[in-house]
Amino acid sequence: MSSTPLSAGDYIEAKCSKCREMTNHTIVAMVEDVPVKVQCNTCNSEHKYRKPAVKKAPSARKPATRRPRVDPKAVEQQQWQELQPSFDEKAAIAYSMETSYKLRALINHPTFGLGQVQESAGTRKIKVLFADGAKVLRCG
Ligand SMILES: [Zn+2]
Repeated sequence: MSSTPLSAGDYIEAKCSKCREMTNHTIVAMVEDVPVKVQCNTCNSEHKYRKPAVKKAPSARKPATRRPRVDPKAVEQQQWQELQPSFDEKAAIAYSMETSYKLRALINHPTFGLGQVQESAGTRKIKVLFADGAKVLRCG
């Protein structure tokens, strides 16, 4: 594709408000590199240039190319499966909102069970990987 900037007098495909379809237009006015006013070469009417709707290339709605969507939770559970053998359950710290945790620290949560601190998730928040996936918890 040529990268030559458009200028007034050039042809451009645009949707004509009268013809109600894509027709060739002549650019009447430009603002910077964007055509603002065009004249339809079919009906000769002048109107504002509207950018054609950008077609999203591989749409997620396309049923033909069904790619299995990666479930982040499944990824986390997988991650847990891989990490779990290296965990020393006895070293796990009982979870408390008042405690601050180091990265990779092992914690024991009353609901989610054993978890490993993955990263800081903001002020006084940590992301912890549990068997059931990652959760964001309060911390001290
Ligand atoms: Zn027209």
